[in-house]
Amino acid sequence: MNDIIEKVRVYGDPVLRKKTDPVTVFDKELSELVENMVDIMFEYKGIGLAAPQVGISEKIITIDASFGESVDDIMVLINPEILHVEGEVSMEEGCLSVPGVWEEVVRPEKVTVHYTDVNGEEHKIDTDGMLARVIQHEIDHLEGILFVDRISSVKRTFLAKTLKSIAEGETV
Ligand code: ZN
Repeated sequence: MNDIIEKVRVYGDPVLRKKTDPVTVFDKELSELVENMVDIMFEYKGIGLAAPQVGISEKIITIDASFGESVDDIMVLINPEILHVEGEVSMEEGCLSVPGVWEEVVRPEKVTVHYTDVNGEEHKIDTDGMLARVIQHEIDHLEGILFVDRISSVKRTFLAKTLKSIAEGETV
């Protein structure tokens, strides 16, 4: 498993566009994969990571719920599902898979999410602010959606060249 994960996949990699499969087995292999994802998330200084970003097409998300303040506040969301959304807010987003790009994205302000933890136990949370934002961004990854899909077509036209360079493996 460790050999599979070498680096974060970037824009243009087909795995980022695939719909992921739900996790059905909660075993040691899953915890090892999650540990790996957490390490990569910190290594790349991300505040959230979805399994497709490391080439694994499964419904797994890790989040640094301290948003860069501590290494002890990790959330692991397996098979997450948004049950309810409320409000609307614009916030700037970036993504480890779309390096160097930051754009305002409008999303619901509050979310209710059902998920399973790494031990197979079910949870439901209501949240808003930064955490709601990160959860929605990461759940999008599980559906093959990237944040640049959610910006205006005018902004996307401006970004076209940059996205093409990322897809072609050039440094931005
Ligand atoms: Zn992302």
